[in-house]
Amino acid sequence: MASNGYRNGILKGSVKVEKLSPSSNPKPSSIKSKTTSTQVSSVRRSSPASLGGVGSGVKGDSGVPGRVRVAVRLRPRNAEEQVADADFADCVELQPELKRLKLRKNNWDSDTYEFDEVLTEFASQKRVYEVVAKPVVESVLDGYNGTVMAYGQTGTGKTFTLGRLGEEDTAARGIMVRSMEDILADICPETDSISVSYLQLYMETIQDLLDPTNDNIPIVEDPKTGDVSVPGATLVEIRNQHSFVELLRLGEAHRFAANTKLNTESSRSHAILMVHVKRCVKGSEAALSIENGNGSHMSKNFRPPLVRKGKLVVVDLAGSERIDKSGSEGHTLEEAKSINLSLSALGKCINALAENSPHVPVRDSKLTRLLRDSFGGTARTSLIVTIGPSPRHRGETTSTIMFGQRAMKVENMVKIKEEFDYKSLSRRLDIQLDKLIAEHERQQKAFQDELERITIEAQNHISEVERNYAEALENEQSRYQKDYKESIKKLEEQWMLNQQKLNSDRARVEVKQEPLDMGLAVAELQKSLQNEINLRKAAEEEVNSLKSQLVQWRRSEAVGNAEVLKLRKLLEDEEHQKEKLEEEIAGLRSQLLQLSFEADETRRSLDRGGSGKILTGLDSLMSQVRNSQIKDSGNGQKAPIVNLFEQVGLQKILSLLESEDSDVRIHAVKVVANLAAEEANQEKIVQAGGLTSLLMLLKSSEDEMIRRVAAGAIANLAMNETNQELIMDQGGISLLSMTAADADDPQTLRMVAGAIANLCGNDKLQITLRGEGGIKALLGMVRCGHPDVLAQVARGIANFAKCESRASSQGS
Ligand code: ADP
Ligand code: MG
Repeated sequence: MASNGYRNGILKGSVKVEKLSPSSNPKPSSIKSKTTSTQVSSVRRSSPASLGGVGSGVKGDSGVPGRVRVAVRLRPRNAEEQVADADFADCVELQPELKRLKLRKNNWDSDTYEFDEVLTEFASQKRVYEVVAKPVVESVLDGYNGTVMAYGQTGTGKTFTLGRLGEEDTAARGIMVRSMEDILADICPETDSISVSYLQLYMETIQDLLDPTNDNIPIVEDPKTGDVSVPGATLVEIRNQHSFVELLRLGEAHRFAANTKLNTESSRSHAILMVHVKRCVKGSEAALSIENGNGSHMSKNFRPPLVRKGKLVVVDLAGSERIDKSGSEGHTLEEAKSINLSLSALGKCINALAENSPHVPVRDSKLTRLLRDSFGGTARTSLIVTIGPSPRHRGETTSTIMFGQRAMKVENMVKIKEEFDYKSLSRRLDIQLDKLIAEHERQQKAFQDELERITIEAQNHISEVERNYAEALENEQSRYQKDYKESIKKLEEQWMLNQQKLNSDRARVEVKQEPLDMGLAVAELQKSLQNEINLRKAAEEEVNSLKSQLVQWRRSEAVGNAEVLKLRKLLEDEEHQKEKLEEEIAGLRSQLLQLSFEADETRRSLDRGGSGKILTGLDSLMSQVRNSQIKDSGNGQKAPIVNLFEQVGLQKILSLLESEDSDVRIHAVKVVANLAAEEANQEKIVQAGGLTSLLMLLKSSEDEMIRRVAAGAIANLAMNETNQELIMDQGGISLLSMTAADADDPQTLRMVAGAIANLCGNDKLQITLRGEGGIKALLGMVRCGHPDVLAQVARGIANFAKCESRASSQGS
């Protein structure tokens, strides 16, 4: 006896009660249950260890570990028990909230067992389905194998739990009917398919409940995948719930008939419903459209659709009552053994699996072979053990409970059954291939037709061309023949004529004359041709040289143009400069005119006065200028001369003394004379070479007016002792003497006499003055008789006499 579970409230065993957290519990249900109630969902939530509580959301090949989920269901007392056991308590006591079951050994002792789910006699069929089968169904829809099994003594409600059709009372619908309802609600009828087999296993023989004649179906196992199948069994595709219920009814009827025929009871046989669910994985809808023949991208998608194949096996096991009991029903021991062989083999396998034994005797029976891929192993499995309340069957009930307890230890590794649907791909490819073949054939036919047509056309064309050509050739031939004949005829006539002429000429003219003349003409022609050729060559050479010259010219023209441009630019600059200078000159001219006018005015007034020294006259001239300057400055303007002196510069004024223009020279010398009247300017004038220029004017100028003004200026400069010596050094006295000798104008003579008179005032110059004829010139000017001149001569003699007397008084 196993010592699992709770006994007398003390935990003795090691039953592994997996309390999975809700998060590790299945993914959201994919089943749209119309009858989901608050109660149900609360059950599922509050029962994480319910039968489906293991990783039903698992994908991939590796699989996840899980455990066979076990629920226990108690049948209510039936009529017979209510009478027979009226005085006895039930042998079991359920604590569904604790998921525990107490098995009474006697009035004071009981053992306690824990299950994944404890379902009382009041548990509804719906609730039983929800907790026992629904998680398995969901797994199957996800591509796993799943098994729901009912184990228990005959009459405890296995068939009631699994197989009730619920036609008279819809609430009584069992697990088979409800499972199909959920499957049908979840699948996609266009892509998915459901097919069903319904079998009975009796005395190690598999019978087809959908086809009674098929009564010995072999089991086939795929050595690679380990998948188990019964290819001999009738496989009916299910499209709706009604057809399925009809199928179940038919199966039940056949089961009943078979058992009657074999004189057996259904409780001795195992009923096995196999539901194959094949689902197309979402995302391969494109493949579907191609499969339906309307895929326009046929060639693009050769990926086979991914399909998930789940198999739900619902097993209504034979009664678990002991063999010795069954023997009492008229079977031999061997028969009895055979009857329950599968069940005991299942027990052994469960024990082996529970103990993790290396050897699981799967091959010992047809049932274990058939359930090989559906129980434990890689499938999700729920076991419901059914028990009755009667204490009379305590032993059976106990063994049933122990079976369930052992089954709870069976670990399984859930694996998804997913594969590529190569069949449908192949079908698709076949369809496409056929289409392509047909298309190719059509195209080939069209191509051949076209080829034939072109060939015929080409042949026609060729023959037409040949015909035309032959005709044309013939025409040409006849024409040429005609021409040929004609020309032959002409030549013959010509020849005849020539012959006649020749004959007649021969008599008169020498025969060779003509050819000779011809030869001469040809020679002449050749010569003229040669000449022509030579001429032509010469002309060509000329053209070439002209061309090269032209190129040269063009180049030098370009250079010249650049030069011309440069010169033009220079010329423009020069013109500009010239314009500026001309403007300046014009300004100077107007100023000079102004000044000379004023000077003339002054002179005239002096003439009219007829008295005073030349220096006084000049002084008055300058004072007039100065007065006008003062007047002008009163108007905020500078006087013309000072202005001129500052604006133009002394050097420039002096340079104008050498101008070729006599007007300019006159104006310039007047300006210098005026400036020289100012004592402050005298030194500057001499330093700038003004004295030399003035002396040059005396020497070279033919204009007496210039000489007069220059002499005036020299007279003014000669007021200074240093200048007097300079004048003498530069031969000024002989120039003044020369001027005096040449001049007739008394004003000129007055200026020259003034200048010599000033020089006579210098002690150092006495000897030179006398030696170079200065005194003689001074005295010579007396001839003029003009009082102004006489006055200056007198002043000079007085100066000279003063120096003489100073010298004699000093003893020299
Ligand atoms: P088994 O298939 O295990 O031999 P059945 O399913 O045939 O047992 O049930 C035997 C009898 O008990 C049937 O008449 C059935 O209606 C009844 N029965 C079984 N379980 C229940 C239950 N939970 N509630 C009411 N009646 C039940
Ligand atoms: Mg039954």
